[in-house]
Amino acid sequence: MRYNRVLIKLSGGALAGERTWGFEPIAINHIAKEVIELHRMGVEVGIVVGGGNIFRGELGEGWGIERAEADNIGMVATVINSMMLRGALTSNGADNVRVMTAIPINSVAEPYIRLRAIHHLDRGCIVLLAAGTGNPYVTTDYPSVLRALELRAQILLSAKNGTDGIYTSDPQINTDARRYKTISYDTVIQKNLRVMDQTAVLLAKENSLSIHVFDFDAPSAMQQICRGEDVGTLITQGQDELFA
Ligand code: UDP
Repeated sequence: MRYNRVLIKLSGGALAGERTWGFEPIAINHIAKEVIELHRMGVEVGIVVGGGNIFRGELGEGWGIERAEADNIGMVATVINSMMLRGALTSNGADNVRVMTAIPINSVAEPYIRLRAIHHLDRGCIVLLAAGTGNPYVTTDYPSVLRALELRAQILLSAKNGTDGIYTSDPQINTDARRYKTISYDTVIQKNLRVMDQTAVLLAKENSLSIHVFDFDAPSAMQQICRGEDVGTLITQGQDELFA
């Protein structure tokens, strides 16, 4: 197996499916099944989920809500999504799922304590890491890299909907666009490719955490990645390489 411990970053939109916001049961069950299959392969799984299907802090600014307040609302949205996924994972047969939150909400989730989270992963629990960093002014891209590093994940699996990797140009517009097999952190930053927030890519670069971008709608993509198959695009150190 190429990876034994992974951190999956899902956008809140993954829970909304075809809808522009909220939840869609089909989409939620798809997430649960994909995660459980991966876990049953013997891969230890942590998950950071965003909150964009409910609320993003940047939206609040336009409404006149102070950014720090709006971001707190966004973080609480990620707690709701994490609890939703705990429910779906459990009802789909996962027997030990934990939600750990950076904002204390003790009656519904455990506080995030790094060594305890590692202990849960060692014991085979699926661990949902909610409320981002617990601090405003970032999105969940940054805490997905942060938690991956803290929990000693070997890879950050960055799940996308509607694209299967990073291309030389927009494949919807240019038929000759080609997909990268690997792309360096520097290329992602210099070309300002909006695959993740730049601060998150920089943190990954400084700590040599590779990020695998893939299409979450494609069945079993995460299993294929963990087995070592060439799926999606790997952001890492070194030379850029295109698929033949
Ligand atoms: N957020 C925050 N600090 C964090 C993580 C998230 O303030 O450490 C807030 C921020 O407002 C963000 C929102 O939570 O917009 C929801 O997360 P995100 O936008 O990453 O959701 P996604 O786009 O992945 O669904």
